[in-house]
Amino acid sequence: MAKNGEFPILNRILELLPPRNGIVETAFEGANIILYTNNREFLTTCGPKIKEIVNTVKKRVEVRADQSILVQNELADKQIRDIVPKEAEVQDIWFDTNRSLVVIESLWPKRYITPEVTQKILEKTYWSPMIRRAPIIKSDLIKTIRYTQFMNSDYRRKLLDDIGRRIYAGFEKSRDYWIRISFLGAAREVGRSCLFLQTPESRILLDCGVNVAADNRTDAFPVITVPEFDIGRLDAVIVTHAHTDHHGFIPFLYKYGYRGPVYCTEPTRDIMASMQIDALDIGQKEGLQPPYALQDIKEMIKHTFTFDYGTVSDVTADVRTTFLNAGHVLGSGLVHLNVGDGYHNILYTGDYKLSGTKLLGRAGTKFQRLETLIMETTYGKGVSPGFAESEEQFLEMIRKTIRQGGKVLLPVLGVGRAQEVILIVEEAVRTGKIDKTDIFIDGMVWDINAIHTAYPEFFNPRVSSTIFESGNNPFTSPLLKRVGSQKERQKLIEEHGPCIIIATSGMLAGGPSVFYFEKLADDKRNMIILTSYQGPGTLGRRLQDGERTIIKREGTRTQTIEVKMDINGVKGFSGHSDQKELVDYIGKLIPKPKRVILVHGEKEGMLEVARQIHKRYRIETNAPRLLDVLRIR
Ligand code: ZN
Repeated sequence: MAKNGEFPILNRILELLPPRNGIVETAFEGANIILYTNNREFLTTCGPKIKEIVNTVKKRVEVRADQSILVQNELADKQIRDIVPKEAEVQDIWFDTNRSLVVIESLWPKRYITPEVTQKILEKTYWSPMIRRAPIIKSDLIKTIRYTQFMNSDYRRKLLDDIGRRIYAGFEKSRDYWIRISFLGAAREVGRSCLFLQTPESRILLDCGVNVAADNRTDAFPVITVPEFDIGRLDAVIVTHAHTDHHGFIPFLYKYGYRGPVYCTEPTRDIMASMQIDALDIGQKEGLQPPYALQDIKEMIKHTFTFDYGTVSDVTADVRTTFLNAGHVLGSGLVHLNVGDGYHNILYTGDYKLSGTKLLGRAGTKFQRLETLIMETTYGKGVSPGFAESEEQFLEMIRKTIRQGGKVLLPVLGVGRAQEVILIVEEAVRTGKIDKTDIFIDGMVWDINAIHTAYPEFFNPRVSSTIFESGNNPFTSPLLKRVGSQKERQKLIEEHGPCIIIATSGMLAGGPSVFYFEKLADDKRNMIILTSYQGPGTLGRRLQDGERTIIKREGTRTQTIEVKMDINGVKGFSGHSDQKELVDYIGKLIPKPKRVILVHGEKEGMLEVARQIHKRYRIETNAPRLLDVLRIR
């Protein structure tokens, strides 16, 4: 229990509460304040009063039951199942005794588990209900992730209390307060995003990814060997989204002893862990030595805490963060950082798409305050065609290939492009825009689809209502067929006629897409369509640049592949802003930043974007090199 005298905020809250409130314990869950009571009446009626207090102290405050008054689990389980309407299709009920919470997983929570239902559960059982959506597609991965957190709830409770104590211990904003950022990756390159933010109080990593296109470890991993970085003093890792070049190195931090928190959105947590487990799996199959083990990924899951879009949360004594939709992939966030209690405000975009995608809404543009913008520039070079035009081109390519008896290979990133492409292709086959044909899905994509079905509120409203209310869910469409084993892959190539194959990885840098490419390359009726960014040096980039003789080395053996299949690319499906959108974004931001720092782009495009921003807005614009350190204020 946090001693009240230590923390003025707790005294203040307790003073605001009515007498005879039965509070026997107070605890922090990060920046949230939890009060445990043994007074049943107070617990079930204090809602309005607590709302009032939250408005006064501007912190999240929750009242929960002391363990002594909780209805015993088995009986509570039965009572909950009686209270919740059958239509909610409850899948699972978990009791988190350490926190007096009951997690209820339902297929249709929004429609059937209303505030009245949760209040009834509280009144009958004294457990505080936490409602979660179960994925429509069953997923062992999501189960494992949620279960890992649940099994470690005692540990997580203690960790959150520690973090809260440090947050509420406060900090001194002296005259020589400063903010610095070291660029440990993604500086004039795409991949291995890793920014190290320091203040006199805090040391925070913004993303910590690997460069999947690099062919050696020096270029693949962020440079954490710099003298200012000490893993033992790291306070937090904030992850913008679930692409490997933004999180793939985090388990490595746990391998070397980091035991602090990772912050991201819920979909990012699930997808990120799935991608890491998959990378480990592929690495082992391809005989590579992965830089970490499954245990390190589990350690990361144990330490991961999630935020919703728009929720303002303290992560250290002097840094407050807010995630906003970035329009890039499911759960992707722009990260707003209020540093030093309003001293300086930074927006780190991660990857973003100003106009949104078929699945996701537009990237956020409005902030209370903003001085420094740190922006990605993946597509700093060139302007992409519009979505409709790209879709027409794309479907025409598929139509032609199917009619001439070929197979279409769509290499995709497991998260993002895969789901966007599935949406387009499924709809086209279902509505007869292209001839009826099978759509095969290979690699991680299936699990990631399952995660998508658990978080419809992260889609744009149009998609989430058509998919999740009308029952026309493309991710559960019977037109999609799963390929799971090497035997099935082989059979598909040898025995199946014209079809569409969607497989990871998007740059043909490992994974099943490489297998299909090698098998399909020889036949000129087949076609490959590249839809995502192709990193320098990857097979995808070489094909994109016109190479048609591919020499493959495997140990001492070499194999020459003469590429006869048709190679095409479609740019308009990208989850990134193109050059025009990147430059326009500055003008759309409210308020307009005073300084722009460009990261995560190839040098040439990045410098072009910097020139245009400076010309149009007269704002100081930097494109730091690897290992540069900038004093922000
Ligand atoms: Zn990304």
